[in-house]
Amino acid sequence: MIVIKGIAASPGIAMGKAFLLDDEDIAVERVRLPPELLKPETRRFKAALKSTLKDLDQTESKILRVLGKQHARLIDAHRLILDDPLITQEVPQRIIKEGVNAEYALSQALAEISSQFEKMKDEFFRERRHDLNDVGKRLLTHLTRRPRRDVSMIDDPSIVLARNLLPSETLALPKAKVLGFATDLGGKSSHTAILAQSLNIPAVVGLSDVSRRVKTGDQIILDGAEGLLIIHPGPETLLKYAQARAKFIEEETSLAALKDLPAATQDGKRLRLEANLDSPDDLKGVAALRPDGIGLFRTESLYLNVPNPPAEDKQALIYSSIVKSLSPKSVTIRTADLGADRLVRWGLEPPANEPNPFLGLRGIRLSLKHFDLFKAQMRAILRASSVGPLRIMVPMISSPGEMSMARQVFLKACAELEAEGLKREKTTAVELGMMVEVPSAALTIESFLPLVDFLSVGTNDLIQYTLAVDRINESVSHLYDPFHPAVLQLLARIISAAHAQKKPVGICGEMTADPQAVPFLVGLGFDSLSVPARMFLRVKKTVRAIRHDNAKRLVEAALKCSSPEEVRRLAPHVSD
Ligand code: PEP
Ligand code: MG
Repeated sequence: MIVIKGIAASPGIAMGKAFLLDDEDIAVERVRLPPELLKPETRRFKAALKSTLKDLDQTESKILRVLGKQHARLIDAHRLILDDPLITQEVPQRIIKEGVNAEYALSQALAEISSQFEKMKDEFFRERRHDLNDVGKRLLTHLTRRPRRDVSMIDDPSIVLARNLLPSETLALPKAKVLGFATDLGGKSSHTAILAQSLNIPAVVGLSDVSRRVKTGDQIILDGAEGLLIIHPGPETLLKYAQARAKFIEEETSLAALKDLPAATQDGKRLRLEANLDSPDDLKGVAALRPDGIGLFRTESLYLNVPNPPAEDKQALIYSSIVKSLSPKSVTIRTADLGADRLVRWGLEPPANEPNPFLGLRGIRLSLKHFDLFKAQMRAILRASSVGPLRIMVPMISSPGEMSMARQVFLKACAELEAEGLKREKTTAVELGMMVEVPSAALTIESFLPLVDFLSVGTNDLIQYTLAVDRINESVSHLYDPFHPAVLQLLARIISAAHAQKKPVGICGEMTADPQAVPFLVGLGFDSLSVPARMFLRVKKTVRAIRHDNAKRLVEAALKCSSPEEVRRLAPHVSD
């Protein structure tokens, strides 16, 4: 039995067989073939081409079933590549001309096409390299007869293991088949970990080299609360975890009783407790928690795994259905925070190889470069305001100039819709706010307040930028600390400045999901907490167990501390 410690990303216990995603490159050798074998070699290539196409059909129908039509269109791009003469004709010609094996001829052809794509000025074509890579890998797999492993191939319920999972891949996981997942890379507040929580599955990240230590079919246990992965557990461990899993499920069931109880402290302070929504697919589950609203709808899922930008009409329909099902409670919709690890497939900058993508073209920076896309989203959101209350907020604001530009786009979208006579609420009823997640904004928040109706603090990014700790880098994750006095002092500063101007301020980062941090957030005086759905009822339980006056005293003391350890030592004093 081997126990590996990683980073707890999503609670729960999964027990079962491992499914290892194929993440490695396939090594291709150059083999010289005698003339009589060249024709059969071209036939072998054509057969592989056929199998790959069949493979794509199967993947397409799985995606259709699980994710819907829009996502399945991605497969069309792959089919086009397989149909290109640069593959269908060039590879057999190379086999004959150069007298080499099909794998080698194919890899040479792929390298050539890829370098042509790379040289293209048009970002759209440059980005097609990813599709080319993906299809090339599939084809090579068929040629080498190595079974291709990708998420759509999971047949039996399994625990998925990978070196890394991108947010787009996490979204594509077939939920019913995935008992949990574990990755070598990643931190607690990585977008992938956040998505695991919204899928309601246990996850452990930052396990270093687990993808090399486990084989598909190995019996494993994943403890999402403690951040442990156990390989080949003995009978006693299996029994212990089966009992722990039963207890976890029992606890979850008993939490359901809290749904209709108010989020009020022991001494009667009623809090506004909202939930985060990461994808429209999760709406039913989130609404069932009966939150006071949705404090953060991350809209990136509409842009990922699709071959084209989502049309305004389609977006308007999605936003309307969410707003309608929450009404009269309000939904805060965040404009797309693309870039960094959330890269789209349809040729939007930034380039995939930015040296420091989290400090690069991300969020509002990208939106302001793609004005039409940004305006289309604003328009779509505003159109949904006719069916219920909503607010709009903008991510990654670092200077007032960006916020004014965002407001201009918002006003232009309002004016256009008015001129078009679209029926909806008065635009003045739709509030525009910003996420405070960059230290420059937090430190000079007074300059932003005249430009916004509300603030929402994104602690996932605010912590990473304040402490200079990459939120997805497991090797520095021990330094990622919400209890750092620098973080608490920034939060206190934001709240007092906002309240002095009578502007509401909420918080929507993962910090709201940490029951230990909740008393600090209550004591700091946030007007609302928006919690990842997975932890919503647990957080409500914590809120109901603490006293507001104690929480305020706790914060007073914490703001005088000089180290995170000192802050943590204060925590137990809050509860009764
Ligand atoms: C945050 O940064 O805290 C946040 C809520 O945004 P995201 O996690 O999507 O970057
Ligand atoms: Mg953020």
